[in-house]
Amino acid sequence: MSRDCIFCKIVARQIPAEIVFEDERILAFNDINPQAPVHILIIPKKHIERLSDLHPSDKDLMAEIIFKAKQLAEDKGIAERGYRLVINNNKDAGQAVFHLHFHLIGGRKLTWPPG
Ligand code: 5GP
Ligand code: ZN
Repeated sequence: MSRDCIFCKIVARQIPAEIVFEDERILAFNDINPQAPVHILIIPKKHIERLSDLHPSDKDLMAEIIFKAKQLAEDKGIAERGYRLVINNNKDAGQAVFHLHFHLIGGRKLTWPPG
């Protein structure tokens, strides 16, 4: 746990969140400022600051998160229409919270390219 990290605090239940899934290694919760009808953040419970910091030993964990995104999209009923799974890495991409998170976004028509 990183002491000043807001997502580590959500994992530790020190600040509230609308949690939609949890297991030993993963947490998923609704984004506080949703950009679409479905906007879920899926995170590893362990503190990894950004995609660039991934280690080869994190491969299985990343696969678990992607598979969970697929399942959550099905649960939320957006799998057929379509959805997006996004990671913002560092400043130019607009990363604001430096605890690796996957945005699962859907429930409306999404534009491309992103801004
Ligand atoms: P980033 O720009 O780092 O990829 O995305 C950070 C996301 O975290 C944003 O979509 C923002 O709305 C969300 N967020 C920031 N603080 C909180 C919080 O305290 N709780 C929840 N549920 N989401 C948060
Ligand atoms: Zn953290």
